[in-house]
Amino acid sequence: MNRKYANEEVDVVIVGAGAAGGVLAKELSESGMSVVVLDAGPMWDPQHDFASDELSMQRLGWEETRLVDGRDPLTMGHNNSGRGIGGGTTHFTGVFLRFHDADFRARTLDGVADDWPIGYDDLAPYYDKIEKEIAVSGPKHFPWGNFHGPYLYPERDPLSPNAYVFQKGCEALGIRHVVAPLAILSAPFEDRPPCINRGFCNQGCMPNAKFSTLIVHIPKAMRAGAEVLPNCMVTQVMTDKHGRASGVTFVHEGKEYVQKARLVILSAYVVETPRLLLNSANGRYPSGLANSSGWVGRGFMTHSSHDVYAKFAEEVRLYKGTPVLATTQDFYETMPDAGFVRGYTLHAHGARPLAFVKGIANSQTGLLWGEKLRQTALDYNFYGRVTMVGEVLPHPDNRITLADEKDDLGLPRAKVTFSFGENDRRLIDHAVVKMGQILEAAGGKVEFVVPDTAHLMGGCRMGANPDESVVNSYGQTHDIPNLFICDASIFVTSGAGNPTNTVMALAARTADYIRKQAAQLFSLSEKPIHV
Ligand SMILES: Cc1cc2nc3c(=O)[nH]c(=O)nc-3n(C[C@H](O)[C@H](O)[C@H](O)COP(=O)(O)OP(=O)(O)OC[C@H]3O[C@@H](n4cnc5c(N)ncnc54)[C@H](O)[C@@H]3O)c2cc1C
Ligand code: SF4
Repeated sequence: MNRKYANEEVDVVIVGAGAAGGVLAKELSESGMSVVVLDAGPMWDPQHDFASDELSMQRLGWEETRLVDGRDPLTMGHNNSGRGIGGGTTHFTGVFLRFHDADFRARTLDGVADDWPIGYDDLAPYYDKIEKEIAVSGPKHFPWGNFHGPYLYPERDPLSPNAYVFQKGCEALGIRHVVAPLAILSAPFEDRPPCINRGFCNQGCMPNAKFSTLIVHIPKAMRAGAEVLPNCMVTQVMTDKHGRASGVTFVHEGKEYVQKARLVILSAYVVETPRLLLNSANGRYPSGLANSSGWVGRGFMTHSSHDVYAKFAEEVRLYKGTPVLATTQDFYETMPDAGFVRGYTLHAHGARPLAFVKGIANSQTGLLWGEKLRQTALDYNFYGRVTMVGEVLPHPDNRITLADEKDDLGLPRAKVTFSFGENDRRLIDHAVVKMGQILEAAGGKVEFVVPDTAHLMGGCRMGANPDESVVNSYGQTHDIPNLFICDASIFVTSGAGNPTNTVMALAARTADYIRKQAAQLFSLSEKPIHV
């Protein structure tokens, strides 16, 4: 393999070229550092590799086997993890929300989970930066949380028929709603065209109207000199005799390589980052790297994401347009008398035919198959859908561990153990009723409630106390000062809105910190680390 830095120690090696890794690669290489980015998957070419085809585009997800466990085992793959340059952003839906100040203070406000070591104000300048950088489109006024707009680019117009159904239902019930803020262009930007509303965002967006790290941050990082190596699965983080991170080993086409670096950043997402830390255990760190607290892999979260489908007399055509174009956060904050704490966002959410059929075949009313399934599928055009993004509280027993089973490289596979808590279930029940009311107020009849989950967060949480967290608020591990973790795994709580704006704002903040501390970080004394 051709490598620019084969025999050299670079300033920074970044593992994973997804939402966070891309931001870090761009920021650090543009500040003059030598950067190598390694990603386990391919470098996609949108015009050649993306297709308007639900089945073939499953390959944008992480397809390697993971073992699942717990009372509510997760379905892993296309629905929650990306693989390849761009990571999850190649096939994400593009809903681009900020967390609210309350999300950083769950313990103080509601006596649950933990507070983050930072608040909304710490991230606000980085939300501004990221949203400007990718020209987020959205309403002039956003009624909830701390940021009320206007967004840089105007909100999308026209919307999809399903979004109009949602708006109609909300209005009948007095629920406020807006056009969703999106990482999707509503007018030309840089060298990219506006959205043509064909609705294949989860299949990769061939025209490049939807932001992804693949088409925005990685090309900029490469122009600034970063070396980006696809199809390179990192297998171990190496440490030196002083206990500091010294680089990584990785496998490309069956052959093992080493990349030495003065700073190692893991941005491999919620399952693979803890797996890599655990798989890097050595004599000095027998329970894995950065794991003196025992929190590596613990407290990971998903969002509850039940779908409610209602049938209408008129055609809705769920395949039309960007999947999410209308949204409400009227139920985001803890509601007095609701019987649970925290809250949820509701989206009018389109579905392509395969996703629709897979969903309704396993709805809460039981299995649907054979002729009944065929007949229902034939009525696809008459269904509308609302989806929730519900906060799930962290629990230390929801965790990523190493399974006994090995993968093709001989590494232990990840085991993902997950169970909903009582608060999570009550919150879901409330949201399901609300989604049904909206659809019925718009004239539909609820027929299917489909349990689902989305977005992973946590597993290497940040915190001020090294005994109960893995990294500080900049993603710097408490145990090894030149080892950083920066991806969705450092979340403390899951919030009730889509997380990627927060993932990228955190990455921009970490990049800023590394830039400012570079002299100190790169000249770390030769003193051994005491863990
Ligand atoms: C279908 C779908 C829809 C979504 N919709 C939304 C949405 O509308 N709004 C929103 O905010 N979020 C959405 N998300 C979530 C979003 O994709 C994630 O929050 C985001 O991508 C997480 O960023 P990350 O940097 O933590 O990880 P990722 O973007 O997943 O990047 C991790 C990268 O690491 C690489 N990697 C992993 N292990 C290794 C290894 N050992 N060696 C080398 N490379 C490795 C992977 O190949 C991957 O490219 C959606 C996700 C999916 C799957
Ligand atoms: S609807 Fe817009 S953003 Fe989605 S795939 Fe089509 S052009 Fe891309």
